[in-house]
Amino acid sequence: MSSPAAHAQPLKTVAHKFGGTSVADATRYRHVADLLLAREEDQQITVVSAMKGVTDALIDLAGRAAGNLEDWRERWHELRARHRGAAVALLGEHSGPTVEWLDAQFDMLAEVLQALSVIGELPREVLERVQGLGEVYSARLLGDHLRSRGEDCAVLDAREVLVVDRNDLGVDVDWELSAQRLRQWRAANPARRVVVTGFVARDRGNRITTLGRNGSDYSGAIFAALFDAVELHIWTDVDGVLSADPRVVPEAVQLESLSYDEACELAYFGAKVVHPQTMSPAIERGLPIIIRNTFQPDHPGTRITARRDTSGPVKGLTLSPDLAVLNLEGTGLIGVPGTAERVFAALRDARVSVVMISQGSSEHSICCVVKSADAVRGRAALLTAFAHELSIAQIQRVQLTDGVSVLAAVGDGMAGMPGVAARLFESLGRARVNILAIAQGSSERNISVAIASSDATKALRAAHAGFWLSPQTFAVGVIGPGNVGRALLEQLRAAQPQLLAKANVDLRLRAIASSRRMLLAERSIEGDWKVPFEQASQALDLDRFTEHLLASHLPHTVIVDCSASPAVADRYAQWLAAGIHVVTPNKQAGAGPLARYQAITEAAAASGARFRYEATVGAGLPVINTLRDLVDTGDVVTSIEGIFSGTLAWLFNKFDGSVPFSELVAQARAMGYTEPDPREDLSGTDVARKLVILAREIGRTLSLEEVQVESLVPEGLRQASVEDFMARLGQVDAVFAKRLSDARASGNVLRYVGRLHEGGASVGLVELPADHAFARLRLTDNIVQFNTRRYCANPLIVQGPGAGPEVTAAGVFADLLRVAAGQGARL
Ligand code: ADP
Ligand code: ASP
Ligand code: MG
Repeated sequence: MSSPAAHAQPLKTVAHKFGGTSVADATRYRHVADLLLAREEDQQITVVSAMKGVTDALIDLAGRAAGNLEDWRERWHELRARHRGAAVALLGEHSGPTVEWLDAQFDMLAEVLQALSVIGELPREVLERVQGLGEVYSARLLGDHLRSRGEDCAVLDAREVLVVDRNDLGVDVDWELSAQRLRQWRAANPARRVVVTGFVARDRGNRITTLGRNGSDYSGAIFAALFDAVELHIWTDVDGVLSADPRVVPEAVQLESLSYDEACELAYFGAKVVHPQTMSPAIERGLPIIIRNTFQPDHPGTRITARRDTSGPVKGLTLSPDLAVLNLEGTGLIGVPGTAERVFAALRDARVSVVMISQGSSEHSICCVVKSADAVRGRAALLTAFAHELSIAQIQRVQLTDGVSVLAAVGDGMAGMPGVAARLFESLGRARVNILAIAQGSSERNISVAIASSDATKALRAAHAGFWLSPQTFAVGVIGPGNVGRALLEQLRAAQPQLLAKANVDLRLRAIASSRRMLLAERSIEGDWKVPFEQASQALDLDRFTEHLLASHLPHTVIVDCSASPAVADRYAQWLAAGIHVVTPNKQAGAGPLARYQAITEAAAASGARFRYEATVGAGLPVINTLRDLVDTGDVVTSIEGIFSGTLAWLFNKFDGSVPFSELVAQARAMGYTEPDPREDLSGTDVARKLVILAREIGRTLSLEEVQVESLVPEGLRQASVEDFMARLGQVDAVFAKRLSDARASGNVLRYVGRLHEGGASVGLVELPADHAFARLRLTDNIVQFNTRRYCANPLIVQGPGAGPEVTAAGVFADLLRVAAGQGARL
């Protein structure tokens, strides 16, 4: 009992509520008791839930018994064993009376279940009685444990004092009657610590009832009020209220404080962490509610008070699942007063509660979101109520769309702040989430959108990132870990921390595939990918690969194709149509069959997904982006010329007659400047491909076959093996020597140039004046010269190293970041 000194001032009473997550087993009860005993409070009121999972188990038992499923007995045994076990573990040698009491309780339960199996149905009243028993057992366990530790503690069965009225809107407390009963109880039980059953109560007809699922939070607030507590601490298994459900958005952040209004909105719209009615007894008394973590008792948790903090426009986001949209549509609704009233009256009479309402100002339709379980009943009610209007076609239809969730963004700071809705819709639009209905209350504290449940996870994550509550997250899959792919993976890994810290972008590498195998990671492939990839046993299956990337429900997905495979390019259109962005240095799509290219660009245009391939021309040099800017700003490109092959650039930069041409090819090959088969470079096909890509970029429908190509590989050596080809290449030396001396005689140099002009496209060896821009290149530099209407007197030139895995990978990476920026990342 309190000391005499404490009587001089009002008693400091603090209420606590422990959820099922805090009392899963004996160890946890002991932990809860430790926590309570460590607190210095004059009066301590502790409301407890049933042990984790027990309420579900009781509901299941009642259903099984009523459905006459024989195995209810087995489950009843299991449940009793779980409680007995907890009692023995908690109380040891003192557990006898508690176990006896439990046995008697379970015998009574068995009688009820037996009766249910006889009558073969489950009356609401009986379910109410049965489902609340877990709290009765739980309070006794905790109370007996505290007593066994020598504490002055009484157990209050809320069914003895708490009187409520259950109605459509929830549960109303009869404060006067409850307070009176509590006074009586307290007179007989003056203990300093009181353990109270959560969830359960009695109705005015003296029948046992409950406060609804998750209702122990509400019990906590009710008893905090009845005992006149100064604070209510709701202890659970997370650090407080988070900005979103952490099971869906692992990056959700803890909120330091919330206003009562914000907490109500979050709770009503599905944030399971606190029951929506909890706040009402607290609001009237200004009672602070603190949501905190049983497992981190030092964490301050989330403080819910009357104070409004309008700093962030959106504090939190929630999802309410299992809903449906009812849509009443008809020209006869326009300008007719009272239609909405009739809709709601019909739904009310059918006992269908409306979660959300939305009506466009054209009044052509009224749409409401209702619980899935009520949807068919709701539709039938509307069909009946509007039967006359339907028969004369004033109303065209009453549509029902099932499988709907409502996503709500909540925050006091939204009021009067423009752009919040825009940000929400933009995030959802970019993640390709279709919105079925929208509602914003005039309090402006909540914007709700109805969406398909299949989009719900993705939508929540996208919106969470959209409000900068978590990073913009991309599921990334890389195909083809060859030279470029490897370099990219390395660059990606090195840049990730900085991207996350500075730009709030999370490029999550979730899959790597080669032509043989693939590695799929649950969350992301971090650190060294090579070893796990070498060990990966899954064979390549691009369908699986794609499914895996999409299955993460991350807001955005990007596939980076670093292969040179036409089979992979065949997938692009399908990926883009599904909203997957494609980034690639693979020239197959850009230069391959026109029909495929068109299908790809059409799919991208239709879905809004991006197709980026800067590194297909000039590696990391900004060739395609420069060209795009020219075209997009309305310039007209008249010709494009350039040296597009690092290999051929190097060969002709070096070729001064001192070393035979074939010898230079051998040197280039030895230094890795050529493909393993140098004919791939010398044939000019690769250059021709790049011209095709550029031509298509400026709107021409050029195909590879239409490019005139001068191959540097003599006819007779085209079929030979690589070794044979290298050995016999000397036979062209004389021809090349002659071309060089002819050029020199006119003061010119030799260069292998690609040209795209009005007349067509050609690739070949040409003579250029010694002061030409193409004559002064270094090493393997590429150069591209754009002649346009604006750049006519002097062309626009892009020049620099145009080959090598590092710079090519950097070009790919830059594209990836451009895609991210296009989706709202602040890069
Ligand atoms: P208790 O048994 O303590 O009442 P609940 O399971 O009812 O616990 O509620 C806590 C759980 O609510 C957390 O474990 C978390 O997964 C979930 N949750 C959903 N939305 C939120 C949110 N916005 N903030 C915190 N937790 C949330
Ligand atoms: N045990 C009840 C439920 O699971 C009440 C609660 O824990 O809040 O719904
Ligand atoms: Mg709960």
